[in-house]
Amino acid sequence: MKLLVHDIILPLGRTEEDLARFAGRRLKIPPSQIFTIEVQRRSLDCRKGRPPRWVHAIIIEVPSHLAEKLLKQNRARVWKPEVVEVPQDRSDRRPVVVGTGPAGLFCAWRLVQGGAKPRILERGPEVVERSKRWHRFIEGGEFDPECHLLFGEGGAGTYSDGKLYTRVQDPRVPEVLQVLVDHGAPEEILVDGRPHVGSNLLPSIVKRMRVALEEQGARFYFEHRLVDLKIDEDADGRSISKIVIEKDSERFDWDVDALFLATGHSARDVYQMLAKHRVPMSQKPFQIGVRVEHPQQAIDQMQYGDSAGHPQLPPADYSLVSKRSKDDLFSFCMCPGGEILPSTEQAGYMCVNGASRYQRKSPWANSGFVITLEPATFGDDTDPLAGILFQQKIEKAAFDAAGGDFSVPALRLMDFLHGRISKDLPDSSYPRKLTPTDLAEIFPPWILDPIRTGLADLAGRFREFAHPDAIITAPESRSSSPVRIDRHPETFESSGLGRLFPLGEGAGFAGGILSAALDGMRAAENWMSNTSSIGQS
Ligand SMILES: Cc1cc2nc3c(=O)[nH]c(=O)nc-3n(C[C@H](O)[C@H](O)[C@H](O)COP(=O)(O)OP(=O)(O)OC[C@H]3O[C@@H](n4cnc5c(N)ncnc54)[C@H](O)[C@@H]3O)c2cc1C
Repeated sequence: MKLLVHDIILPLGRTEEDLARFAGRRLKIPPSQIFTIEVQRRSLDCRKGRPPRWVHAIIIEVPSHLAEKLLKQNRARVWKPEVVEVPQDRSDRRPVVVGTGPAGLFCAWRLVQGGAKPRILERGPEVVERSKRWHRFIEGGEFDPECHLLFGEGGAGTYSDGKLYTRVQDPRVPEVLQVLVDHGAPEEILVDGRPHVGSNLLPSIVKRMRVALEEQGARFYFEHRLVDLKIDEDADGRSISKIVIEKDSERFDWDVDALFLATGHSARDVYQMLAKHRVPMSQKPFQIGVRVEHPQQAIDQMQYGDSAGHPQLPPADYSLVSKRSKDDLFSFCMCPGGEILPSTEQAGYMCVNGASRYQRKSPWANSGFVITLEPATFGDDTDPLAGILFQQKIEKAAFDAAGGDFSVPALRLMDFLHGRISKDLPDSSYPRKLTPTDLAEIFPPWILDPIRTGLADLAGRFREFAHPDAIITAPESRSSSPVRIDRHPETFESSGLGRLFPLGEGAGFAGGILSAALDGMRAAENWMSNTSSIGQS
């Protein structure tokens, strides 16, 4: 019998070789009686007031009389990982998955495991070509509206930071991590409490997953864009009969049995097309704000204090909240050793996001700082796409204010807090130009004020946060979808259009790589366990 034991603490300077000794001490058993020991989870505890330390959950095997004693004393519990049974699809239905981000890719993965042979459409190019075009752009070249940080093989996940954090207890989580490891992700993500893959490793992982899927009968169609739907309507309701695809300006259509729509939160043309077909959608809250960048050393100092620079400590991250104004300001997608990137899908609009490579070696740490906007604040409460219009207004103002050449609006943090326009800006990770910009040209006061109040609060609480070379860039406007594509809670089928299965972040049911992947897997499982998909009114 294997036992799971939590809270085995190793101070800095100890290694996992010492685990048996520390576990023995905590469990009050001789270390020699621990036959096997395996790390199940490892996390860094750097709460203030004590030196950082590593906290482990371990899986052990001990003699049965000791196991019984530990269970009785509640010092351990039986380790029995849950496994999801994949339903088998015995029909000859051929589902279509649109989008190769984490939701689409893991939906396809599950479909293939269940014996289905999906066709997978992706508007952008395959990842090798995508990488060439993306790098050309960030090094100063032309913007390509079909190939950027968001579109192309792997979706927004490909050059993302690849943090795989979740609080969700779902047996699919270890499965997703294992699939990533099997295709090239570092093994430590299986045990790290804050697993991270990095934007330099993700492209090849995505490519290997595609090759594996193709070997099992899936077919990928790159630079194929879903542009329209053909709909059957009868007494039973409305359902998709065909989809219209565009490739090299030619249009053609395919019959579909099921359309898994995993097009992400930035395919604004897809939302427009769904609205045209009266697909039920609703407004949902989303976040907006700025991205702050500090020298990494300042953040290490802030988080690790005197232990900063210890060889066992990774570049420090943080998770911060200010409750100083009526809208909480909180950090989002913090990237130690990372870079700020332009994350728009359209020329004429500017927004940023952050990522880091596996080694997190850049000298900067960046993080979004956002507030949550409720639907009532977007404008027209009858238009499900009002949140997108609101995002566009801000992103257009940002693009224009910074000079209209993908320069990013930026200020020194302390200048922003004191209401000054920076005369100069320090070096930054942003690959194109930074332009000192009055952020009042971008955000209305009811957004800018809580951002300023919150950041001033943090700068007051943490000396290093107020570092003179800290900058803010703007806007961070795509941290989540402002739209939900309504669907049945169990089948995941659209609540107004049969054969349509909206998934992932774009459908408003995920907010990150792992949650998008899980949503895709669940959608595939639900579909395979239902023998027929029925139209809905
Ligand atoms: C820079 C950056 C860093 C990030 N860091 C993290 C992180 O560390 N951790 C984390 O959990 N999340 C992170 N994210 C967010 C994460 O990448 C997304 O939450 C996730 O990718 C959403 O997955 P998805 O499959 O729902 O959509 P997406 O990944 O957006 O994929 C949608 C896909 O659909 C395709 N598509 C769109 N329209 C069409 C069409 N009409 N026809 C055909 N194809 C179409 C797109 O080209 C794209 O490939 C980051 C995002 C960015 C941009």
